[in-house]
Amino acid sequence: MSRYKKVDDKVIQHFKDLIGEKNIITDESKMTDYSHDEFTLSDIARMPEVVVKPENTEQAAKVMKYADHNQIPVTPRGGATGLCGGCVPSQGGIVLSLEKMDRIVEVDTDNQMAVVEAGVTLMDFYEAVNDAGLFFPPHPGDESAMIGGLIAANAGGARAVKYGVIRNYIKGMEVVLASGKVIRPGGKVMKSSTGYNLLNLFIGSEGTLGVVTSAVIQLMPPPGTTRSLIIPYDDLKQAIETVPLLIKKKILPMAVEFIPKEVIVRTEEILKKRWPSQMGNTYLLVILDASSEDEIDKLSEKVAEISLEKGALDVFVADSPKKQKQVLDIRSKIYESIKEDNVETLDIAVPRAEIANHVKKVLDVQEKYGMWLPTYGHAADGNVHTHIMKVRYKDGQITSLPEEEWKEKLHLVREELYKDCREKGGTISGEHGIGVVKKSYLSYVVDEEEISLMKGIKKVFDPHLILNPGKIFE
Ligand SMILES: Cc1cc2nc3c(=O)[nH]c(=O)nc-3n(C[C@H](O)[C@H](O)[C@H](O)COP(=O)(O)OP(=O)(O)OC[C@H]3O[C@@H](n4cnc5c(N)ncnc54)[C@H](O)[C@@H]3O)c2cc1C
Repeated sequence: MSRYKKVDDKVIQHFKDLIGEKNIITDESKMTDYSHDEFTLSDIARMPEVVVKPENTEQAAKVMKYADHNQIPVTPRGGATGLCGGCVPSQGGIVLSLEKMDRIVEVDTDNQMAVVEAGVTLMDFYEAVNDAGLFFPPHPGDESAMIGGLIAANAGGARAVKYGVIRNYIKGMEVVLASGKVIRPGGKVMKSSTGYNLLNLFIGSEGTLGVVTSAVIQLMPPPGTTRSLIIPYDDLKQAIETVPLLIKKKILPMAVEFIPKEVIVRTEEILKKRWPSQMGNTYLLVILDASSEDEIDKLSEKVAEISLEKGALDVFVADSPKKQKQVLDIRSKIYESIKEDNVETLDIAVPRAEIANHVKKVLDVQEKYGMWLPTYGHAADGNVHTHIMKVRYKDGQITSLPEEEWKEKLHLVREELYKDCREKGGTISGEHGIGVVKKSYLSYVVDEEEISLMKGIKKVFDPHLILNPGKIFE
């Protein structure tokens, strides 16, 4: 029997009275959208019993207080772009959607800090920051993600190698606790050694410790200029091994991605756009930033020299904003081009000197199971995204696999790659989180003692275990 109370008509009426009928959804057809995120397998989806959309912190706090008192599970939800089922209401109950809390409270240019509500999308945030002449460096791939979700997942993105992840920019937060009490750890300060860092506990906690309602986010001055280099190789290993060499020679690009040709070809076909190079089998996309044209010229020359020495076939430069946009448009649509046949996107992060070895393992596993495992990733920070597909790919031809076959192989592939990740000193999620999908693999890389400490922390913040049950380790 479930430990949780069902949401009945009386509960729904209570929420209507608390925060207004227009902020409550109970219609099944409308709630379907709130039953899943971007993880593709429908077997983890679960319908909420009610969706509530608070307009402000006070309303969110009232909902939490009632849910805690009545033992009703609450799953916070942002843009639902997550890839591990994090915002799926695994135990039913309430989905607490932050979508109506979408105000950019201020962009404070004196302190270079923004204060925003949790439901602000990344896209709107970039626009506001840009309009103020400032820069927010992290760039996770889906701009419909919301600030609360980005914080809860500790999102990363391609620029982490130089600029770090979301955690590095969150300086303050407003959080509604399970009890309905509101706390505001941190603020517009660059430094703080003032007791335990509660702020950091919430970052990456996947909605299991509290509901983020707003955040203070550090901004930066924008880079003077940027440039993208597209570097083709015949050999993936040579491409990946170029990256630690760049770093050894003290070149820290804004982003470095490795991308196999077959996914570029598929994206070109769908978008009807041309990638700047048709040479080779694999590409490095190196994005540089610098304060002046002179400096970026020198950096580009050095990158070209090192890459060509390592076996690159050529170096193509996208220097104008138009050319860069064309390259980045194709890069950003790769996921769309393979999404239909993708079952799961792995998010393994290994020490960057181990990327080439891990990718070699992926290729071996692909061969062994006859499944297409297109792999690309943020080469310079060690984060490797292997896509487990329900198709086979050979000589440019895609053939479907029977459902029974790919479902069975899915587990075998996951297991082999997670074991390889562990052997290489890696982690099973670099930026997407554990959610539902990876929780049975957590113990591959986190020991029992640490998991037990995590469970202890969870109980302090959420003694009745109502916040996002069924996630991370539960
Ligand atoms: C095409 C594509 C590309 C992507 N690229 C990247 C990438 O480069 N880097 C990267 O890191 N991720 C990437 N992602 C994954 C995803 O965008 C991130 O995980 C993002 O942080 C999720 O934000 P969201 O608002 O969509 O959160 P949701 O999916 O709604 O929720 C994610 C988690 O956060 C919790 N949560 C949401 N809002 C709150 C809140 N206000 N308070 C407390 N908990 C909350 C949820 O309960 C859930 O556990 C990509 C996804 C897609 C589809």
